[in-house]
This record gives sequence, structure tokens and C-alpha cells, in this order.
Amino acid sequence: MRIDILTVVPELLDSPLSHSIVGRAIKKGLVEIHVHNIRKYGLGPHRQVDDYCYGGDAGMVMMVEPVFKMIEELKAERNYDEVIYMSPDGELLSQGIANELSLKENIILLCGHYKGIDHRIREHLVTREISIGDYVLSGGEIPAAVVADSIVRLIPGALTDETSALSDSFQDDLLSPPVYTRPAEYNGWKVPDVLLSGNPKLIREWQEEQALERTRELRPNLLSKNF
Ligand code: SAH
Repeated sequence: MRIDILTVVPELLDSPLSHSIVGRAIKKGLVEIHVHNIRKYGLGPHRQVDDYCYGGDAGMVMMVEPVFKMIEELKAERNYDEVIYMSPDGELLSQGIANELSLKENIILLCGHYKGIDHRIREHLVTREISIGDYVLSGGEIPAAVVADSIVRLIPGALTDETSALSDSFQDDLLSPPVYTRPAEYNGWKVPDVLLSGNPKLIREWQEEQALERTRELRPNLLSKNF
């Protein structure tokens, strides 16, 4: 799989994509992530990428041309399944969307900045819009890193133990059961006995019960999705 991220602040994406599971998946060759500076096609000697907002509102808007040219360059090299604009008014990111996107071959994640991008890009070039939540961030870079991370960890081989993605929260509309590690007791705080029982059937039942209980308590809306 290949993910191309288009931004005017590429530095913001250096660290989140170079470490941990995403960094390892890149090193293993499971995914290619390319970050492109839209300023490459900026206008004039200052490589301008934004301009004043028509209508006189405060704030700058990203211009059509640099984004258009950047997308055209990439599209000339390969076909893209989706051109996704990160936007607070987009579809709310969910595990379902991450699952769906992890099956794609090539996707573009377009990051807005300032007041956003000229709406014509959204009308003519963007195929999908994704939000990471009902709040406004300064740019689409952190949202793009969130989307990329949520996708990459689902690619087979990205996690050392693939089954661990299956027991993650939301994967089956249930929250994850609590997890513990050694020591079995610290400060008098004990790990539940069943986890030390060595009985896989009992452990599995306990985990299922806990997942259901936590979902009922914390996110009952997830359960009602199934009825
Ligand atoms: N004026 C716009 C917000 C611009 S914020 C509005 O009110 O909708 C600048 C950029 O940050 C956006 O273009 C978008 O790419 C990104 N962004 C901000 N919040 C986001 C969110 N919750 N999810 C995804 N992208 C977001």
C-alpha cells in the first residue's frame, strides 16, 4: 500500500510516521508513506500557497493551483483509489473507515492549513473527506497522521501478533477488555486470578464478559448499533 500526504508543513509529519508500528511497517516494506510539500508548486518567487479569502473574511485560504498541480503530478504516476481531504466537517473517522482504507492500494491524504482550502479543490479533486473529531485543529497534518496510523496497523504483518488488532476496541463494536502484565501483585494491587489460572477457556470467557461489561458501561451506543 502507498499513502501520499500533501501538506504545506511537512515537518509536522516527520516524527509521527518514523517510529513504533508505523515506522516499522515502512521499514518492513508493508507500506510506503510519501510526504509532499505543496509549496513545490507555490506561485511566484516566494512560492505562495495561500491568498486572502473572497468575501473579506479574516484568514488565508490555500489556493487551487499548487494543490491541483501536486495532485496531477501524483496521478500521472499511478491511479489513486481515494483523494481524501482532512476536514472538520468530513465523515467522522471510525475503525470501520480505517478497515476499509487499509484494503486500498494508493491513497492521497490532503492536509488543509490556515482557513482551509479553496472549495473548488473539494468539488473537483477530492473524493472523500474525513474528520478526526468535532473540534478544529490548526492543520490537517495531525489528522492525516492519525488516519495513516489507524490504517497502517491493520495491514497484515504490521503488528507482530496480528490477532492483537482483532481484540482492539471497536473492531467488533466492543471495547477492549482490561490488560495486565507482570508482576501479579504490586502495592497489594492484584491481577485478576482468572488471568493467572492458565485455563484458556476461562480466560477467554472472562475477557468477553469484561469487554461486554465495559462497553455497556462506557459506550452503550456501540451495542445498540447491532440491533
Ligand atoms: N475553517 C475551517 C477549519 C480550518 S482548520 C472550518 O471551520 O471548517 C485548518 C485545516 O486543519 C483544515 O483545512 C483541515 O485540513 C484541518 N483540520 C482541522 N480540524 C480538523 C479535524 N477535526 N479533522 C480533520 N482535519 C482537521
